[in-house]
Amino acid sequence: MTATQERTAVLREQLVAWRRHLHMNPEVGFHEHQTSAYIEAELKKMPGLTVTRPTETSVLAVLKGSQPGRTLLLRADIDALPITEENTFEFASKNEGVMHACGHDGHTAILLGVAKLLSENPGEVPGEVRMIFQHAEEIGPGGAEELVMDTGLMDGVDLVTGLHLNSQLPAGMVAVKPGPFMASPDMLELTIQGRGGHGAHPEEAVDPIAVGAQVVTNLQHIVSRGVAALEPLVISITSFHSGTTHNVIPDRATMLGTVRSFDPELRKRAPELIERVIKGVCEAHGATYELNYEFGYRALINTDWVAEQLKAIALETVGPDHFRDAKPTMGGEDFSAYLEKAPGAYFNVGSGSDEEDSRWPHHHPRFTIDEASLETGVKMLHAAALRLTLPA
Ligand SMILES: [Zn+2]
Ligand SMILES: [Zn+2]
Repeated sequence: MTATQERTAVLREQLVAWRRHLHMNPEVGFHEHQTSAYIEAELKKMPGLTVTRPTETSVLAVLKGSQPGRTLLLRADIDALPITEENTFEFASKNEGVMHACGHDGHTAILLGVAKLLSENPGEVPGEVRMIFQHAEEIGPGGAEELVMDTGLMDGVDLVTGLHLNSQLPAGMVAVKPGPFMASPDMLELTIQGRGGHGAHPEEAVDPIAVGAQVVTNLQHIVSRGVAALEPLVISITSFHSGTTHNVIPDRATMLGTVRSFDPELRKRAPELIERVIKGVCEAHGATYELNYEFGYRALINTDWVAEQLKAIALETVGPDHFRDAKPTMGGEDFSAYLEKAPGAYFNVGSGSDEEDSRWPHHHPRFTIDEASLETGVKMLHAAALRLTLPA
């Protein structure tokens, strides 16, 4: 066992304690008051860190190493979701209707662990390591955007990395990929205005449910016929509300949806493609519409050479048996905001296992993590803090 491995093993109990405390006390984005106070208090127990509050509910810890070198940003997100937890273990959420159902409690514990290891041995740290405990990842426009635009967090940062636990990947596994990794999650809100009437006399009405159903179906035509098969695009109508009873044709239908893509050009074109379909279908059937389209986070595109370095670090840290090339996902992440300002890469650490009921999808009321993943996360981020370098 190397010295690093030994220190990490000693940390194991502490990691679990941090994670369980956070899991029991979840707070949603922009309201992480107790969470950030707890993180700040824990960081202040560690020697050599400069701890500040860039925004009301985010925390920054800076460690200046004793050797010259690059400035690296490590990021963990700290917010929870408005979900009522259905787990019954003793550290289940105490805050009714709020739950750490995405693993951000784990991310926070991991970065606290890395801070502890680094602060104990500043002599081995090249340059400067900034550790940002970021608020509000789950709520657009996202905490990352605020930190990047308003706080100077990224001034002088050469490189950035961070991780997301992944319940669909076994605990102990690390997955990285260069290039496109996570999609841009854009949103649409649509109202179809028909003309209400008697359910027995549709000829006297304009049925917004029938028109809306055509719109939903025809939007998929864009994905299958309007965009190249090798260019990923997802359009999902995720909410459709209309009507009140069985014999009344309602006046209007309202819909919400998400649009996901990687290519910035396609992303720009998507609203126009979508509106053309909505307009055509509505006109064909005598309805009118109102469309609001909102751009969410940018797509997360990993910098190739940073991803390659992380892969090399993973092969050495967890071994080839525990490494896998990551698959891109249509999920979104505001980590992409940091990548606008500096090269970097985001990666996955597995948190699933058969024994512990830990394969529920993220954002599910039964979601949990195999806590063995915490140690893997610390090993990876700690090694990245010591070894990631700018290309010669
Ligand atoms: Zn999430
Ligand atoms: Zn998440």
